[in-house]
Amino acid sequence: MEVEKLKIRNTYIVSIEGKRYLATKNLTPGITYYKERLFKTEYGELREWIPYKSKLSAAYLKNMDISILNKANRILYLGMSTGTTVSHVSDILADEGVIFGVEVAPRVMLEYINRVAKFRDNIIPIFYDARKPEEYLYIVNGKVDMVYCDVAQPDQTEIAMANSKLYLKKGGELFLAIKARSIDASRDPAEIYRDEVKKLEKNGFKVLETVDLEPYEKDHAMVRARLIRY
Ligand code: SAM
Repeated sequence: MEVEKLKIRNTYIVSIEGKRYLATKNLTPGITYYKERLFKTEYGELREWIPYKSKLSAAYLKNMDISILNKANRILYLGMSTGTTVSHVSDILADEGVIFGVEVAPRVMLEYINRVAKFRDNIIPIFYDARKPEEYLYIVNGKVDMVYCDVAQPDQTEIAMANSKLYLKKGGELFLAIKARSIDASRDPAEIYRDEVKKLEKNGFKVLETVDLEPYEKDHAMVRARLIRY
């Protein structure tokens, strides 16, 4: 086994028998969340970060710049689901930050609480609708360095923009996962990505990167943007 430390904090590449695995340092040794592998290494226990299960992992492996994670200590995460990706963001931040994780579906939130919440105290679960960002102002209570939006809804871009306008600090970054099929199953995904990017640009965002997540996620793109006009 060979282990390479990457430029993102607490993130590594583990190579075994010609295969390479992206991994984060497990904040909860011995505990896994979605059947990911664990690797015992000289850096401690590492947890495989599977790009087929996490769009942020896919975006990173497709060369998106996620270095904001090195300085972010407050992150607003919309569409936390049962916690696959958020668990890795939690590994990355470790004891240097906090993630506010918004999820609206009660069963999903319950599963998250049972699977993840009891083991990790740098994630604050917020059982609210991300379409109404002002309702959790009293919990987030201040600006964030990064807004991550993966809600898979037709109005995903509007949700991301509304939350960014309220919470994103100057110099912070928005990561928006665009699921083309949530917008229109019959149109060319590339055209849909272009339209959503245009929408962001019209509304005061500077789009820094757009990455197609194939082959890890079909018909999905990740957009990285900064809010330049509040
Ligand atoms: N980000 C997750 C991950 O990588 O582990 C996967 C997220 S899944 C594609 C989308 C999630 O967004 C679902 O759990 C869904 O319940 C949630 N969601 C959809 N609309 C929402 C809303 N308006 N507010 C908060 N969560 C929402």
